[in-house]
Amino acid sequence: MKNEAPEVLISEEQIQLRVAEIAEQISEDYSRAEDLVMVGVLKGSFIFLADLSRKLSIPRTIEFIAVSSYGSGSRSSGAVRLVMDVRGNIEGKHVLIVEDIVDTGHTLKYLIGMLKSHRPASVKTAALVRKAESAEVEVTTDYLGFDIGDEWVVGYGLDFAEQNRTLPYIGIVKPTDR
Ligand code: 5GP
Repeated sequence: MKNEAPEVLISEEQIQLRVAEIAEQISEDYSRAEDLVMVGVLKGSFIFLADLSRKLSIPRTIEFIAVSSYGSGSRSSGAVRLVMDVRGNIEGKHVLIVEDIVDTGHTLKYLIGMLKSHRPASVKTAALVRKAESAEVEVTTDYLGFDIGDEWVVGYGLDFAEQNRTLPYIGIVKPTDR
C-alpha cells in the first residue's frame, strides 16, 4: 500500500458516539444477566472490544477467539477454520460475540454455531460495520455500528495486509492500492 492516509469513511467522532450508544444499549439489555462474556474475534475486533467493554456499566468478562477463512483475495470463501478457542468456561453464561466487520456473514454464522456447542445461556452478536449488500448467509447482528457499501475498509482494528489497524477512524483502501 502507498503511504497516503486512507480516505475517511467514518470519523473518529462518529465511531466514539456510536460505540457509546451501543454500550448503553448492551448495559440495559444485560442489566439482569449475571454472567456476560464478551468474546472478541482476533485480530480485527481488538480496538472495538476495548472501547465497547470499557463503556459498559455492567459486570463483564473478556475472552478471545481466532479464526481464519480460506478464500481468494479479499473475499472469504465460506470455509472458516478455528485457530484459537475461548480459554474460559462459557457454559451457562451469556455470550456476546464482538466482531469487526460482517461481510458475507460466513464467519459470524460459523462462530455462533461453534460457541453454541459450549452450551452458553445465550449467544448474541455485535459488529462495528456490516457490508449489507455482500451478505451470502442470513445472520443476525444484534448490535451494529454502521452499514457500509462493498469497499475494503481499514482502521479501528481493521487492516489491509496488517497495515493501518491503529488508525482512529475507518478509511477506504482504493482498489489501486489493493
Ligand atoms: P465474512 O465471513 O463475513 O465474509 O468475513 C468477515 C471477515 O472478513 C472479517 O472478520 C474480516 O476479517 C474480513 N473482512 C471482510 N471485509 C473486510 C474489509 O473491508 N476490511 C478488512 N480489514 N477486513 C474485512
